[in-house]
Amino acid sequence: MDKIIVITGGGRGIGAATALLAADLGYRICINYQADENAAQDVLEQVRAKGAQAIAVRADVSIEDEVVGLFNRVDAELGRVTALVNNAGTVAHKSRLDEMSEFRILKILKTNVLGPILCAKHAVLRMSPRHGGQGGSIVNVSSVAARLGAPAEYVDYAASKGALDTFTVGLSKEVAGEGIRVNAVRPGYIYTDFHALSGDPDRVSKLESAIPMARGGRPDEVAEAIIWLLSDKASYATGTFVDLGGGR
Ligand code: NAP
Repeated sequence: MDKIIVITGGGRGIGAATALLAADLGYRICINYQADENAAQDVLEQVRAKGAQAIAVRADVSIEDEVVGLFNRVDAELGRVTALVNNAGTVAHKSRLDEMSEFRILKILKTNVLGPILCAKHAVLRMSPRHGGQGGSIVNVSSVAARLGAPAEYVDYAASKGALDTFTVGLSKEVAGEGIRVNAVRPGYIYTDFHALSGDPDRVSKLESAIPMARGGRPDEVAEAIIWLLSDKASYATGTFVDLGGGR
């Protein structure tokens, strides 16, 4: 079966590492991004240099019309999606709940909860035999924050990832009989640009002593788990979580 993967937020960080690994494994690749076109084009060139057929598509995952446009482009230019990585996510400056604005909280929830749910909906519409599909695999990129709660840092972000975990469990059961597996990874502190969003670009280095393995993780270490969960090697895994927190 052809392998066609959509990676949301595939232009940077964990998503970019996943795209590079997918290119080595024969996937046709859609790199979605929201704003950083240069980064997405750079990853696009790298995966094409590995011989992969690939496109980069701008879409805000939290707006359904744009998600529809994203999957329509994939249908037309790569074929019917078989693998979705719900990786796009955001966080905001470290703060207590009593300092958070409604605008901020809504942005976090829309990007990290509504976005993956909308993308999964349009993937299921293509993967499920109820709609003429032949099955597929979805991996949601959650966070150890879903377990730990991120007090006094960003409880809104942690709650969004908790919702994503519950969605993973529920959808996995809903579509298990349709040849679609749904799993999640929960990274800990990973060296990416993500931490600049929280106002502390060097956050991972500073927190190394709080990590049992005494180091942050690399994006490619998360990508390996994502690709394994997507693959037939994980054929009996659904509704499961792989924690990649260096022991946190
Ligand atoms: P990153 O380097 O900041 O990349 C985030 C990606 O998400 C970017 O490509 C960005 O697009 C995209 N994005 C953000 N909002 C979007 C939207 N509304 N629509 C489409 N794309 C959007 O972060 P990362 O560390 O790789 O994070 C990837 C995932 O891992 C996130 O879900 C994050 O919550 C999770 N995670 C990260 C860590 C960590 O320590 N880094 C830990 C736990 C979980 P542009 O490039 O266009 O801006």
